[in-house]
Amino acid sequence: MKNFNFKSPTNTKEATKLATGRATYLAGGMSLIPAMKLRLAAYSDLINIKKIKGLSGIKVSSKSLKIGATTTHAEVASSKEVGKSISSLAILADSIGDPQVRNRGTIGGSIANNDPAADYPSACLALNAIIHTSKRKIPADKFFKGIFETDLKKGELIESVEFEVPEKSSYAKFPNPASRYAIVGVYVAKLKKDVRVAVTGVESCVFRCKKLEDALSSNFSTSAIDSVNISSKGFNADIHASAEFRAHIIKVMAKKAVSSC
Ligand SMILES: Cc1cc2nc3c(=O)[nH]c(=O)nc-3n(C[C@H](O)[C@H](O)[C@H](O)COP(=O)(O)OP(=O)(O)OC[C@H]3O[C@@H](n4cnc5c(N)ncnc54)[C@H](O)[C@@H]3O)c2cc1C
Repeated sequence: MKNFNFKSPTNTKEATKLATGRATYLAGGMSLIPAMKLRLAAYSDLINIKKIKGLSGIKVSSKSLKIGATTTHAEVASSKEVGKSISSLAILADSIGDPQVRNRGTIGGSIANNDPAADYPSACLALNAIIHTSKRKIPADKFFKGIFETDLKKGELIESVEFEVPEKSSYAKFPNPASRYAIVGVYVAKLKKDVRVAVTGVESCVFRCKKLEDALSSNFSTSAIDSVNISSKGFNADIHASAEFRAHIIKVMAKKAVSSC
């Protein structure tokens, strides 16, 4: 933790050039710094990306909502544009951690980190997001690979996240009362072409729940969820909740989300 170089590039090109060897990007530091402090991770160089112009901000069109990587959770939560085009996303951002975390943590940092209980990954999957990086555009369906693992290659920088504007959407979370991370979080979105349901907090990585998607595609109502059977096989079990409890809560949260769509 103690010995590292601190660099503050002002553009993306400079930042990606610096990201070699044991260097890494630093955004809000809300996940990276605790990991370094606990000696779970160590780096030779921290590349502060918060000074890079153009990496922060919100752009809306009729079809999509694009959020810059270093935009904080608080900025998303309080954005009138987000509230107007995808209000469920603003509500999700407002449910993350506490005011300190929301004022430092960024959307890019959250999805790059891919914590199994993080909120934003579920929004990315449900809202058919495209992750724009310094190298390419990655569909959310291909981005989240496993526990704290994504499709990002060494030095690849997330520049923005582009969400499809849904017809209807809602996020319901059963939070850990201390951290506010999701014990179970369910994001439901009715898009132009399909219905998507993403679940976080339940497995080692966020996932789409096909059974709920099928049920809601034929009947977008809470009653359609009653007949869905969610197996707890492979689900997380820890001091907060058993696998069976999580399976039960998925349906409860899915109903809550659909009823507030
Ligand atoms: C007390 C507490 C409570 C929390 N509660 C919640 C919660 O309820 N829900 C939730 O979802 N999260 C929660 N979080 C996590 C929080 O949302 C963090 O903001 C997030 O996990 C990391 O974002 P960051 O900007 O701080 O990234 P950092 O900690 O700076 O970086 C995290 C990782 O992402 C990489 N990275 C950062 N930005 C980029 C980029 N643009 N391109 C490529 N790689 C990048 C870094 O190199 C690092 O590996 C909580 C955190 C704390 C400390």
